[in-house]
Amino acid sequence: MNKLNLVFVIALLASLQACTLDTAPKGESRLDGTGNGQVQNRGAGTSNWWDKLPRPEWSEYERVAVDDNWFEVYRIIDGVFAIYEPGQFEEVISFLISGENNALLFDTGLGIGDMRSVVDQLTKLDVIVLNSHTHYDHIGGNYQFKTIYAMDTGFTRRRALGLPHERMAEFVSEGWIWKPLPDGFISDEYHSHPFAISQFVAEGEIIDIGGRQLEILETPGHAPDSICLIDRENRILFTGDTFYLAPLYTHVDGSDFEDYAKSAARLAGLAGEIDIAITSHNVPIVDGSYMIALGRAFEEIKAGIAEYMMTDGNREYQFDGFSVIVKDEQ
Ligand SMILES: [Zn+2]
Repeated sequence: MNKLNLVFVIALLASLQACTLDTAPKGESRLDGTGNGQVQNRGAGTSNWWDKLPRPEWSEYERVAVDDNWFEVYRIIDGVFAIYEPGQFEEVISFLISGENNALLFDTGLGIGDMRSVVDQLTKLDVIVLNSHTHYDHIGGNYQFKTIYAMDTGFTRRRALGLPHERMAEFVSEGWIWKPLPDGFISDEYHSHPFAISQFVAEGEIIDIGGRQLEILETPGHAPDSICLIDRENRILFTGDTFYLAPLYTHVDGSDFEDYAKSAARLAGLAGEIDIAITSHNVPIVDGSYMIALGRAFEEIKAGIAEYMMTDGNREYQFDGFSVIVKDEQ
């Protein structure tokens, strides 16, 4: 992005911020309706964020060849493929978890590449889709699958109706994407496809895919329908967007700081039962002890003893390896 564009974007942001707080200024806020977007917070469009790629952590994992040039696939642990989209700013990661009877696809990505085709190259098992939450970057390929489990929330039901191009155009615009888009992908038509929920699931339910049991933990906060999955036998926690090594959002529409703090405390309490956390942005595996750091971070914020700086009108509390973005009135 050149300087003039940048000035224009800043001016636009300022005017949007000024004129509306609950329609659709930038980033995730377009979907969720707050005045605070990820663009400002994480830098899409304001810097060449892709210069930091490839992230060195990925070199630890076995790359799996697939006939596709949008996704990168890695075998991160036994039975779990990470399906990574480094070409777009979110660097979102979906996970295909294979059992003996079924496979569970934990998120379906941005809906830019052909997730179905990649999954079909990785497994012959019937696939159950379950979303870590229903922000646009985790549900993009849902419509390509028949079996979709979902949380029974109003937020989820609204997301299942899809979103038109006007609400999605920005995410494939200049500054958001560096990789060539897949053949046949038309940016001007990019939208969030509606999808059909097959079955509702809830806290404590165990999805048994054969030789692997995944238990649902409701962890609202980032989004109202945020969940984690715990594989107790293998001591693994899938955190979705509730934890990753980047700014954590408690400030977008649908987010709730108090709920997030409770979820963080809950995950901290599970730290002794897990070895690793598998996270949905940037890098796939972090040490399970980060759950303790997460719980402590929210405690310190609540106690008013954590330091913050102002980032685009929000408080950004910096911790070791991650930060937490909080509305200023919190
Ligand atoms: Zn999210």
